[in-house]
Amino acid sequence: MRSAGPDTGRWPVDDVVARLRAPGGYEAFAERVRQAGCCRRPVRLSGRVTTTGPTGQPVVLFDTATLPDRVLLKACGTRRETLCPPCAAVYRGDAFALVVAGLRGGKGIPDDITSHPAVLTTFTAPSFGPVHRRRSDGTCHPTGLRCPHGTALVCGRRHADSDPVVGQPLCPDCYDYEGAVLFNAGVSELWRRTTIYALRELGRLAGLSVRQAERTLRLSYVKVVEFQRRGSVHVHAVVRVDHRGDEDGSPPAVSGELLAGALLAAARRVSAPPPGPGSAARLRWGSQADVAVIGDSDDGRRRAAAYTAKYACKGSDADGVLDHRFRGGVPHHLELPAHLRALAETAWRLGDRPDLGHLRLHLWAHTCGHRGHFLTKSRRYSTTFGQLRTDRQRWRVEHGHAEGDQVSESPATGQWRFEGVGYRSTGDAWLAAGIAEAERLGRRAAWEDRRWASATSPEPGSSPVEVS
Ligand SMILES: [Zn+2]
Ligand SMILES: [Zn+2]
Ligand SMILES: [Zn+2]
Repeated sequence: MRSAGPDTGRWPVDDVVARLRAPGGYEAFAERVRQAGCCRRPVRLSGRVTTTGPTGQPVVLFDTATLPDRVLLKACGTRRETLCPPCAAVYRGDAFALVVAGLRGGKGIPDDITSHPAVLTTFTAPSFGPVHRRRSDGTCHPTGLRCPHGTALVCGRRHADSDPVVGQPLCPDCYDYEGAVLFNAGVSELWRRTTIYALRELGRLAGLSVRQAERTLRLSYVKVVEFQRRGSVHVHAVVRVDHRGDEDGSPPAVSGELLAGALLAAARRVSAPPPGPGSAARLRWGSQADVAVIGDSDDGRRRAAAYTAKYACKGSDADGVLDHRFRGGVPHHLELPAHLRALAETAWRLGDRPDLGHLRLHLWAHTCGHRGHFLTKSRRYSTTFGQLRTDRQRWRVEHGHAEGDQVSESPATGQWRFEGVGYRSTGDAWLAAGIAEAERLGRRAAWEDRRWASATSPEPGSSPVEVS
């Protein structure tokens, strides 16, 4: 096998041998890889950090010239499992910490937040045409009419969950691709309106006027979008009710059941305006909505958080084909199921329409129209990803684990040069993958040892969501 790295023409094994013979050898390289969190495609930076000494002379604090290959490796930090599993695991851990802090305290949120009513919701997209599916009784579409294209909208099969045909339309010509893309593009606005409606509805159920409800109550939430097999987004959210102005204080006198009822009523009634003058229909949720009250037990709150966090690392397709933005339309060589390709191409085409210019769909064709972040939260819900990263950096610096992080903590000035992304050779990438696997197994063994040693549940930072 020829090397796929920039130094093509060499055998990976030659690169491995060269690495082992280099100054510091394997250990020096492995240390760099571990410091970059075993990232699969780290950013390579060269440069130095300087500060001013007591007499005004420049003092070099850190120089990449002292490192193997004279570069610092910085983790890519992606949330996408398909791009970089080690970085996605870190992201998922952070997502869990963020969600769980809003449910049971920690990270600056008091523990008695547990007494605030909270629910776990799932809202779905409406139908844009019949697709192959697996209903609870195992059937797909045992009966159906013939469509205008002459296709019988019937499927008598019983699909396994893993069947790739699930989510594909029975008649692609009937499928409302534009509607599907515009729903994905407008789902954040639909969610925003849903929370406003739900707050008023909650007030109404509790005997408050709209004004009173808006003045005294607040819905804090964290939401994650998940792509269904048919390429439309689902929204999973944890919603908590607080007193406005005293969000961390005592809980309002409403129950979780009341909150659940208010959200369901809102989901049924709410709509958002069509995204452009050319599109007629207002956006609405699909008929399948699910709202479950999260109890105040520690276990229930952890499970709700783990459930929400697990969706935060998924992309718009399971294989990661759509992990990157397109430059000039959907490339022909991309191996995409026809349905997903049609969605992405529709999104790209809608991106040309002046009346939809504000949606900037060329930037979001790879996510079938869904714009922006997969995980978002309201401001008061809990801590932020930024704060969690800062805390982790501080911990690493205090425990002497990170030169690169020391750099960004320092009040000194750094001059950096971007040298590239990924390992310099296939041999290095092989070695790094081996180091990552050893680390993962080490963590798993440590976690199992701890679990074995104590009958109590594991601490949050080492929860199974990190090591599974
Ligand atoms: Zn990475
Ligand atoms: Zn079917
Ligand atoms: Zn048809």
